[in-house]
Amino acid sequence: MRIDILTVLPELLESPLNYSIVKRARDRKLVEINVFNIHDFATDRYRSVDDYAFGGGAGMVMMIEPVYKAIEKLKGERDYDEIIYMSPDGERFNQKLANQLSLKNNILFLAGHYKGIDQRIRDHLITREISIGDYVLSGGEIPAAVITDAIVRLLPGAISDEQSALSDSFQDDLLAPPVYTRPAEFKGWKVPDILLSGHAGKIEKWRHERSEERTRKLRPGLINDDDENGN
Ligand code: SAH
Repeated sequence: MRIDILTVLPELLESPLNYSIVKRARDRKLVEINVFNIHDFATDRYRSVDDYAFGGGAGMVMMIEPVYKAIEKLKGERDYDEIIYMSPDGERFNQKLANQLSLKNNILFLAGHYKGIDQRIRDHLITREISIGDYVLSGGEIPAAVITDAIVRLLPGAISDEQSALSDSFQDDLLAPPVYTRPAEFKGWKVPDILLSGHAGKIEKWRHERSEERTRKLRPGLINDDDENGN
């Protein structure tokens, strides 16, 4: 799998994509991630990527040309399954969408900045628009990193115990059960006895029950299949 990210601020993506599971997956060549600086595609010597909004109003708008040039160059080198613009008004990101995207070969993310990007880029070059939630961030870099992380940890081999990603919250529409580690008792706070019993079958059943209980209490909509994207 290959993930490319277009941004005006590549520095924002350095640490989220270079540690933990994402780093390991890159080291193991399960995914290739490339970050491209939109300033490198600017058409003037000031490397400008933004300009005033037509019609006035506060805030700058990302210009068409540098982004167009960047996307066209990358598209000339490979076919993209999706060219995704990060946007608060996009389809809401969730685990189902992460699962779907993890099956693609080439994904290009476009991170917006300032007031957003010239609408014509969205109209003509973008195949999908995704939001990570109903709040506004300063740029699409962190959203792109969020989605990249969610996708990459699903790639076979990214997590040492493959079952681990499947037993996380939202897979099977259930929240994960509580987890514990040593010591078995701390200041009188005890680990549930069943987990120390060694009965694999009973432990599995207990975990499933706790998952259902937690989901009913915290996110009943998951069980009733209320998906805000209608999937
Ligand atoms: N004026 C825009 C927000 C611009 S925020 C509006 O009101 O909709 C600047 C950039 O941050 C956006 O172009 C987008 O790429 C990114 N961004 C901000 N919040 C986001 C969110 N919740 N999900 C995905 N991307 C987001």
